[in-house]
Amino acid sequence: MNVAPVDVAAEAPSELAQLKLILSHVADLGHAETVLGWDSRVSMPPHGAAARAEIVGTLGRLTHERFVSDEVGDLLERLRPYEETLDYDSYDASLLRVTRRDWERQRRIPAALVGEIWRSNGLAVAAWDDARAASDFQAFVPHLERQLELRQRYVECFPPAREPYDVLLEDYEPGMTAAQVEAIFAELKTATLPLIEAAPEIDDSFLSGDFAIGAQEEAGRLVLDAFGVDRDAWRLDITTHPFQAKPGLRDIRLTTHYRPGDIHSLFSTMHEFGHGVYEWGVDPALARTPLDSGTSSAFHESQSRTWENLVGRSRPFWRFFYPTLRELFPDHLRDVDEEAFVRGVNKVRPSAIRIDADEVTYNLHIVLRFELERQLLEGRLAVGDLPDAWNALMQEYLGVAVSSDAQGVLQDMHWGAGLVAYFPTYSLGNVISVQLWERAVADLGDLDEQIARGEFGALREWQREHVHRHGRKFRPDELIVRATGGSIDAGPYVRYLQEKYSGL
Ligand code: ZN
Repeated sequence: MNVAPVDVAAEAPSELAQLKLILSHVADLGHAETVLGWDSRVSMPPHGAAARAEIVGTLGRLTHERFVSDEVGDLLERLRPYEETLDYDSYDASLLRVTRRDWERQRRIPAALVGEIWRSNGLAVAAWDDARAASDFQAFVPHLERQLELRQRYVECFPPAREPYDVLLEDYEPGMTAAQVEAIFAELKTATLPLIEAAPEIDDSFLSGDFAIGAQEEAGRLVLDAFGVDRDAWRLDITTHPFQAKPGLRDIRLTTHYRPGDIHSLFSTMHEFGHGVYEWGVDPALARTPLDSGTSSAFHESQSRTWENLVGRSRPFWRFFYPTLRELFPDHLRDVDEEAFVRGVNKVRPSAIRIDADEVTYNLHIVLRFELERQLLEGRLAVGDLPDAWNALMQEYLGVAVSSDAQGVLQDMHWGAGLVAYFPTYSLGNVISVQLWERAVADLGDLDEQIARGEFGALREWQREHVHRHGRKFRPDELIVRATGGSIDAGPYVRYLQEKYSGL
């Protein structure tokens, strides 16, 4: 029997409405977890951590069970014929494709392990907090060992990969492997070392001092206003280790960290804005579905690094904002002209702390973490030997002597939070940021002039159109081709660094 060609999608079957209802409940539970996670890092008293870990563990397990249920699997199966009538780009096709991928992946993980992972993350982050405050790595050792053991059990839920790292990386950067990361990082390392050697001496002494927190807060608010945040839909709070969270549609939470001795909070706020604007720009039609967030961690970082660095450390941005900053800090900046300031905030200086690193040395901090966590995961490095290995690589790559574990191996919360294989996405984000930037400049023409006038709307709209609105509809390796015409490529980023730093 001949079947007539389908030129319009069949009417959505009732199973689709049933599936969407379940997915909306799963999303609601996820948003509740987000509120609790935000609260635990912004307002919860520290001694609440143990009780909170239980709550989040329970919620995480329930969310998981609801999502990986047979019911969802049956609905996905019954919807296959309908899916085949749809356009790849359509909302329903994307929803079914991504839900199926998530379901097949998450179904492999027993609910008890999911709950245990959530619970352990809560406890280990609290332990990391204390260990870092006391610079006591030994106190963190049992927690880190437990976190690695849970990651190994997680990896065992999947078919054998080339290496365990690949299984974890898939959660943050679908389609990417450790071997690919290694190749991109080799390129970054080769390009970076000569730039450090050639870095000019720059006086940035005016960036240290006593910068009133109130004026820093005002600077941050003014920048966010200029970038275009709607104060009725965004918040900015204080935390130790800044992050962004979206507990629901039109609810974007940024955090920052103020230090009296410098104005780093401003760059941290711009960074988190980049994450927030990505989540803000996801098509509202995707709300309460698995499509409602950024497509990958590297894509997310590409947006945060764009606002922090490509905008926030650029000459045009300071042409616009330096007069305001100078008014807020007259005692510090009276004798510092715009050019001296721009050179100061871009100074290349190897240092111990990743989040304070300039754009050139930053990637070496990531390469170091990637190499160490890969060894930890394969059991080639014992947790007890981690500080020595860390300090040796800091010396080798950056020529920096680490003064304490708080300034070294304990500086980041990621491993405590269970984020193993996450670090590479920061540098991959840098790489993608410049690939996207080149396209935006080609499309927008006078982007530098717009930024110098304090106009950010066209850039934001370009990002929304080419990246943000799609949410998770397309995998990162698809989205980058759609947005830039090519695959991930370190070349543009390397050229950007070379040009920027030779002109400084
Ligand atoms: Zn970030």
